[in-house]
Amino acid sequence: MAKNTLHCSFCGRSRDEVKILIAGQDGHICENCVEHAREIIEQELLTRSDSPGSGFKLTVKKPIEIKRFLDEYVIGQDDAKKVLAVAVYNHYKRLQQKISDGDIDIEKSNIVMVGETGTGKTLLAKTIAKLLNVPFAIVDATVFTEAGYVGEDVESILTRLLQVCNYDVTAAERGIVYIDEIDKIARKGDNPSITRDVSGEGVQQGLLKLLEGTDVLVPPQGGRKHPEQKLIKINTQNILFICGGAFDGVDKLIARRVNTNAIGFNVNKEQQEHAKKNLLQFVNAQDLKHFGLIPELLGRLPVVTYLNPLDAETLRSILTEPKNALIKQYKKIFEIEGIELTIDSDVLDFMVSKAMEYKLGARGLRSICESILTDAMFELPSSKETKFHLSLDYAEKKFDKSKMSLLKVA
Ligand code: ADP
Repeated sequence: MAKNTLHCSFCGRSRDEVKILIAGQDGHICENCVEHAREIIEQELLTRSDSPGSGFKLTVKKPIEIKRFLDEYVIGQDDAKKVLAVAVYNHYKRLQQKISDGDIDIEKSNIVMVGETGTGKTLLAKTIAKLLNVPFAIVDATVFTEAGYVGEDVESILTRLLQVCNYDVTAAERGIVYIDEIDKIARKGDNPSITRDVSGEGVQQGLLKLLEGTDVLVPPQGGRKHPEQKLIKINTQNILFICGGAFDGVDKLIARRVNTNAIGFNVNKEQQEHAKKNLLQFVNAQDLKHFGLIPELLGRLPVVTYLNPLDAETLRSILTEPKNALIKQYKKIFEIEGIELTIDSDVLDFMVSKAMEYKLGARGLRSICESILTDAMFELPSSKETKFHLSLDYAEKKFDKSKMSLLKVA
């Protein structure tokens, strides 16, 4: 057969019309058709719900086991852990039950966690997802805007979830989404309906749709929807939404309510004083409504819990106790280099005191460790040392020299 009579078995183009013609057993394929086929396969895999091998197989544990697991990673926050454990357990139990007509339909228990930043809200949500082996996505409520404005559509929350599980729709439909900074989309002011509130109520309305448990059309690549895009349908009925926020100033709203309700008939003065200091523990949906979340949204977030601020003792435990505690991580890093890292216990106290002094919370512990250990991590891999001892004197010197020491807040 003459060379130029060869043609692509798919599009029929002849050898002269294409750059590459790949031979198969009984035919040929050109580069255009290969590219086209690749696009088709991608689209198919994107929309197919039974794509195998994403590796997400739900494992439901009893509430006590969930709490125990959380204890391994998160220090303190016992109330939040208990509430979360029960809510999550009920949620996934409900998923496993085949509900027949007439049965009681257990509603989903989406959760709001109220607590200062860096107290472990994200960590709790992440750890639960790890335990249950379900897809987990973290999104920030502040990037979303009402449809029609610059910013991302709320549906792209689900895009993140899809991306995490490689577009396995079935897995995504049982996943957990953590929506951070939910307090930032609170309605501002008492008169929301006169002007369009781009970043506030509109977004809450958008979220409401997701939380309600309906079919949502999701742009596979996120961002904004556009007309030519092929959208993926996801049912959000079984997706657990956990929202978190610092809700700065909510304690004043709680105080007002608690005072008027005259709590503490049966408690002594000391207990009352203690309760006043930890007002967050009394937080409920009513306070969040006063803060600016719309009642419809709160109706879809029936479980409200709180996280305690971290005191020095808790910070100290965070450094060493959790399964992947910072100090354990640094020891590992040194160990990989063949160096044994030992740390004086007053160094840990120093780190905690700096985190408290600089008001950095648990998140600051990492930067403090980095500022103290960077030089050692820079130099030691090129040396022959097999041991490194971190003393208070060394730690103080390195910290004082670091940029961090300049960051002190007034
Ligand atoms: P939030 O979501 O409340 O702002 P994160 O969960 O992101 O805070 O916490 C930030 C970091 O601080 C976490 O990665 C974790 O290392 C540490 N951390 C905060 N709280 C705790 C805690 N209670 N137990 C263990 N680590 C914590």
